[in-house]
Amino acid sequence: MRGASLGVTLINALELPLDNLTAHTQPLDAVIIGAGFTGLYQLWSLRKLGLRVQVVDAASNVGGTWYWNCYPGARTDSPSHIYQYWFSDELLDEWDWQQRYPDQAETERYLNYVADRFDLRKDIRFNTRVDGATWDDSAHCWTLTTNTGETFQSRFIVTALGPLSAPLVPPFKGHETFTGRLVHTARWPREGLDLKGKRVGVIGTGATGIQVVQTIAPEVASLTVFQRSPNYAVPMGNPRYNDADRAAMRARYPHTREAIWTNFVGFDQPGQTRAFFDVPPAERREIMETLWADGSLKLWVSGFMEIFFDPAASEEVSAFVREKIRARINDPILAEKLIPQDHGFGTKRVPLENGYFDAFNQPNVELVDLRATPIECITPNGIRTTAGEIALDVIILATGFDAGTGGLTAIDIRGRNGVSLREEWKKEVRTTMGLQIHGYPNLFTTSAPYAPIAAFCNAPSCLQHQVQWITECIEYLHTHGRTTIEPTPDAEQRWLAHHDELANQTLIAKTKSWYTGSNIEGKQNRLLSYIGGLPAYMAACAEVKQQDYAGFEVV
Ligand code: NAP
Repeated sequence: MRGASLGVTLINALELPLDNLTAHTQPLDAVIIGAGFTGLYQLWSLRKLGLRVQVVDAASNVGGTWYWNCYPGARTDSPSHIYQYWFSDELLDEWDWQQRYPDQAETERYLNYVADRFDLRKDIRFNTRVDGATWDDSAHCWTLTTNTGETFQSRFIVTALGPLSAPLVPPFKGHETFTGRLVHTARWPREGLDLKGKRVGVIGTGATGIQVVQTIAPEVASLTVFQRSPNYAVPMGNPRYNDADRAAMRARYPHTREAIWTNFVGFDQPGQTRAFFDVPPAERREIMETLWADGSLKLWVSGFMEIFFDPAASEEVSAFVREKIRARINDPILAEKLIPQDHGFGTKRVPLENGYFDAFNQPNVELVDLRATPIECITPNGIRTTAGEIALDVIILATGFDAGTGGLTAIDIRGRNGVSLREEWKKEVRTTMGLQIHGYPNLFTTSAPYAPIAAFCNAPSCLQHQVQWITECIEYLHTHGRTTIEPTPDAEQRWLAHHDELANQTLIAKTKSWYTGSNIEGKQNRLLSYIGGLPAYMAACAEVKQQDYAGFEVV
């Protein structure tokens, strides 16, 4: 868990019982679904074990999230020095980050560099979508089917789909009648889309909508922002880095790579150690000002933990942020529409912004408050709300994702006895530590529900930990001559109960957002991500391993 080496020994490829495999399929040890941040590292790790591994991705290149989300203004909200891999000292030495918060292009370049640097592409099948995966209980392996007609047989599957990969396209009436261009941000055309001089509508004001709005406002003829829920956001400070900055960053890498594993959210900055109400009000204010001025997510992730469970502390911090937003907007009536009142700061994902609130001071930008005037339908010319029709050339859906589950349920996964994961999860979404699911042997999941992932963790920190746990588990099976691993129903129930107990103490579980699945009609209302913190999660995973996979049936 400490950087350059996984400490694994090279082992020979697992010996699959090939007599059960049909001639036209290719026996593999592992198929990894997804060639993004996680998939690339998982490939590198399993390859080091000497396994036969195939990565399959629907995209035409590596990148995952950073391939698909090439919309204007896309960038990370985690600083570059913690948004990277730790497995190679050479990579850390070679890669020069250009700015504190890399944009989509820089992050995509980094992932391409990693793919080339470690010769990963030769094991990646692009333009290929996995449609189905069926477990064969007698052969102890999975059969995967794809949209290209190719099938794979494999002992293990690792899903590296990302937590936010299934775009949510709301079923607006008249969607198909629009004669202009309608595009979801997570399926932005790779060749780009010229918005200059166009009448553009953006639906959605989450992290994505905020980035799009602030980026395109200066160039479009008119921008209509369709807002259902206003959002808090913190101004981003995004300096460009020079060689001296990078040298200082590299000098801190030994500290950083230790710090992220002991940090509640996988960042490298510790939070406040004193209780909120033990700090005098004037000093609380001073601390909030300092965190705010940092131009980062520190007010959220390195501030006072009480904002997550104490309504009074939450209200004080929220009032502070509301005041900051109010000061940015010239029109006081508009300001009140842009300021959240129905949830506390940090009870859903806090985005960073770079001119978002100022955009509403521009004459070409208009806010449509969908709570006052809901969308009735999309028309051939634009969008009709209860207040009338707004003519548009382009409609941008920044409407988010079916988070955590959507990537997995898009695949027809059939476990023991042909049981469909999609159908099971309609009843209840279950996982054990977000890593495996009872009834689906040898299926390893990353970014799945009930691990910290994305919502409460700097994504690369928790994803790298998950990859390492999975790799060590597969190595264990091999060295102990075992062929399958699957969590017991009891262990799964215990993890869920533990997850729920923590989740239900928080204000986050009471707030509507993708964190709780409430952005999708009919989805279960339960916190998707584990909120016990990365160190506690890692400790639980380590304990399972140390106890020879206690809570898992290993055969
Ligand atoms: P999101 O946070 O789920 O926001 C979706 C937006 O669309 C919300 O404003 C939502 O309104 C609105 N919406 C959804 N359905 C609608 C409908 N039928 N009518 C009107 N409005 C509708 O999605 P996102 O902005 O794509 O962000 C998702 C996550 O991706 C983020 O939380 C973050 O984790 C990640 N992300 C990160 C970055 C970054 O690092 N900078 C950037 C982008 C995304 P309601 O709130 O009322 O539902």
